[in-house]
Amino acid sequence: MNMIENKLELDATTYKTLLESTRAIPWKIDWDTMQFAYIGPQIEDLLGWAPDSWISAQDWADRIHAEDRDWAVNFCLAQSKAGVDHEADYRALKKNGDFVWIRDVVHVVRRDDGSVDSLVGFMFDISERKRTEEQLAALRRELEELSFKDGLTGVANRRRFDAVMESEWTSACRNKQPLSLLMLDIDFFKQYNDRYGHLDGDQCLKRIARLITLAGERPRDFVARFGGEEFVVVLPDTNESEAYKIASRCRDLIASEHIPHEGSGISKHVTASIGLGTIIPECSDEAHAFIKLTDGRLYEAKQRGRNTIVSE
Ligand code: GH3
Ligand code: MG
Ligand code: MG
Repeated sequence: MNMIENKLELDATTYKTLLESTRAIPWKIDWDTMQFAYIGPQIEDLLGWAPDSWISAQDWADRIHAEDRDWAVNFCLAQSKAGVDHEADYRALKKNGDFVWIRDVVHVVRRDDGSVDSLVGFMFDISERKRTEEQLAALRRELEELSFKDGLTGVANRRRFDAVMESEWTSACRNKQPLSLLMLDIDFFKQYNDRYGHLDGDQCLKRIARLITLAGERPRDFVARFGGEEFVVVLPDTNESEAYKIASRCRDLIASEHIPHEGSGISKHVTASIGLGTIIPECSDEAHAFIKLTDGRLYEAKQRGRNTIVSE
């Protein structure tokens, strides 16, 4: 029995070799004096600060990124005081001024009477993991943005319109404010494609989308491609006469762009028809019915000869 135990026991030199050959950096702080009792020599490879420059806990705190320092120090101190093992991620300052993401895993060593004797821990270099996390987060943001964006024109897509309409509808109900909607459809666009080709048709759609985004002036005004050559503009807290002005501005902006359209039945340039709806919704009303009503006015604008706005 004794022999087995002895075999399993390691001498201090072997412990030290083991500790100092890992990539994790071991350290110990004496709780009463708040002085480093030990820090692995690997710290110098990672951060550039020699082991003998780690004298007190203050040196540790000073070498934490200013944005992480307060919470890291306060968190570790509070956990240590409570005798709770913990870990903290923070950016550590390198001697050359760069920063490295560190995960500090801390064990609180207590005396028999329960009082804190010391803290021992390991610092892990987690910068690679953080980089991957940041790249993933950026990709996720990009993906989310793409899933709400129309690929051709860069304005919001139909999916985003549905979400925005839903939330603006709810907000207008609650606040008893008018909500206006424009539905805009390019006139004789099929003929445009027939005359100039589908690629020029795409360019035309992009130009029109950009012009429509210029018409609104408030931050919550919202433009989306509803589908094909149709666009929608959501105008929260906007009454009919204000919305009519925005609709007119859309028409004017498109007219002043002078996009040639030889195949148009009504003009030498690209024009659009607009249906306009305004409502102070009751919570029992349906956004769907309001969209349908506005679409009916767009249809009416087509019937009345196109290049016009219908609001009733
Ligand atoms: P109206 O004046 O009554 O609106 O007639 P219109 O020709 O504009 O309407 P119609 O619905 O008959 O045709 C719409 C055309 O829009 C047909 C379709 O090929 C074209 N279109 C839809 N999406 C795109 C697109 O992404 N790119 C291009 N180039 N054309 C598109
Ligand atoms: Mg159409
Ligand atoms: Mg059309």
